[in-house]
Amino acid sequence: MRRINFQAELRNVFKEIGQIAGGMGYSVYLVGGPIRDILLGRSFQDIDIVCIGNAVKLAKAFSKKVGGNLIYRRLFPNATVEWDDSSKIDFVSARSEEYPKDRVSLPKVRRTKDLMVDLRRRDFTVNAIAADLNPGKFGNLIDPFNGLLDCQKRLLRVLHPDSFKEDPTRVFRAIRFSMELSFEFEENTRKFFQKDLKFLKYLTPNRLWKEIKLSLKDGSDILNYLKKYGVLRILGFSYPGQGFLERVDVGSIQFGVNPVDTLIMALTEKKSIRRYAFERNFIQQLNYVREIDAKALRDIKIVHRLFQLKDYSLLYLFAKYPKNSIIIENFFDNREKLRPELNGDDIKKLGVKESPEIGNLIKRIIEAKWIGKISDRKGEIELVEKYLGGRDVN
Ligand code: ATP
Ligand code: MG
Repeated sequence: MRRINFQAELRNVFKEIGQIAGGMGYSVYLVGGPIRDILLGRSFQDIDIVCIGNAVKLAKAFSKKVGGNLIYRRLFPNATVEWDDSSKIDFVSARSEEYPKDRVSLPKVRRTKDLMVDLRRRDFTVNAIAADLNPGKFGNLIDPFNGLLDCQKRLLRVLHPDSFKEDPTRVFRAIRFSMELSFEFEENTRKFFQKDLKFLKYLTPNRLWKEIKLSLKDGSDILNYLKKYGVLRILGFSYPGQGFLERVDVGSIQFGVNPVDTLIMALTEKKSIRRYAFERNFIQQLNYVREIDAKALRDIKIVHRLFQLKDYSLLYLFAKYPKNSIIIENFFDNREKLRPELNGDDIKKLGVKESPEIGNLIKRIIEAKWIGKISDRKGEIELVEKYLGGRDVN
């Protein structure tokens, strides 16, 4: 029997969990990511504990013991315990998942008392290894699919031929793991992957975007993998080009903008907006940026449209129009200063009658500041006086 060695602090926590569970008549196992990462010598954050028994009751008992905070989820009863500053463990009851044969959708989930059944529902052999946390068997590895060997060979291997068809989100998981862990696809897994890639098209927009956002969280490089593995092609997404991706990376650091929505804009650039269940705000932003081209960017009036854009949209324009990127940079750097110091009342006091002209003047002030013609309150007042004198203010 192979055993796993946990570092001292974790070992104490896991022993505690094993003892509490034993007292309640439950069995508990550490499963999935953390085992894989320990075997690979990597660090990890989220810890999943599978319980043969009531995971929520176990989580409650454990959180009492460590003085932690219990977060309970009703859907498939599970619970998270947080304690100290950053310690966090998820407790889940062992479960089976049964996928419908004729369509892509979420599985029917049932509780099981059999750990093997819970391991069989998992995505890859390296994620289907469990470590026994029960007293007397503490640390024993349960590895029914030879995940340990695949860890050593750095191979991703599905547990059965229909895995990608059952749950096409595993395509994204496979690509993420192959990139993050530098794993190869095992030969049959590669064939199943290629054969069933087409089922990606049947994911609901919600599930699709959730996976894409998760994949993009660690940077734009994943898009090169999604391209290489044919995912972009199957989904009809545009590949924005390496230059665009590099500019997004640079811009996101320079302006402090999260680039995920920028990249989604680029992926769906050639698609009808109505095709996806995007949120209203995002649709509005898509409409705004699609109406802007290089010529519009160089027009003085662009400044008003830039004010309507969220940062991720500005970053998109920055990356899309490199020859005019200075315009976006200028906006990011100066937008606070572009807001007029004079307000409507101030302009009235200078002698302009209540009329749409006031709004117009405010726009002219912003434009004059945008092109650097004026830069302070004095300049703004002079511009209004020029207008009152009947002179051209542009
Ligand atoms: P990460 O380091 O990204 O957290 P992980 O393997 O822990 O990797 P999670 O998304 O946290 O991934 O999932 C925890 C475990 O749940 C996985 O190791 C795997 O056993 C199982 N799992 C998660 N998603 C799926 C899925 N779509 N199909 C099958 N099993 C899954
Ligand atoms: Mg995890």
